[in-house]
Amino acid sequence: MRHDLNERFCARCGSPLADRAIEGRLRRACSSCSHVVWIHPTVGAVAAVVERGELLLIRRRIEPFRGHWTMPAGYVEIDETPAAAVTREVREETGLEVVVEELLDVVCNDDDPRRRGLVVAYLARPVGGRLLAGDDAEEARFFRFGALPEDLGFANNRWLIEQLRRRGLVGSDEP
Ligand SMILES: [Zn+2]
Repeated sequence: MRHDLNERFCARCGSPLADRAIEGRLRRACSSCSHVVWIHPTVGAVAAVVERGELLLIRRRIEPFRGHWTMPAGYVEIDETPAAAVTREVREETGLEVVVEELLDVVCNDDDPRRRGLVVAYLARPVGGRLLAGDDAEEARFFRFGALPEDLGFANNRWLIEQLRRRGLVGSDEP
């Protein structure tokens, strides 16, 4: 699937772009100057916030996966580290202050129609704040791992939850 086909004119000189084979694949390239549209995944960060064996999820207010439950996440700003981005996103979406404990994984985001992304996933622990949904979140709450909602958004969230289970990072389902 081509991700650069909506690029029609050169951002540098305004001339039409055309397909040209460059470094092993067809890319949009300027017909007049040397400009090439290099396209790369957007970088995001997601937090598995775990407390007493429960996982923090938000219900999304916006598409994609509007109304579904996902882990707090968002795009990394140009002057931010992924860890800083994830603590900011958790604060904005859930009201909680968290500290990042460890890197869990780096996953792809294949089911976001806005743009293909690389998502840095962290394990994080709440250290303060008050649980209150905000920003892109309609609701925010902790779920026992044995009672996660059915309508989880994003395939990478399901994958990460499976990794948390396998690594024993989550509490038992016993009450
Ligand atoms: Zn050009």
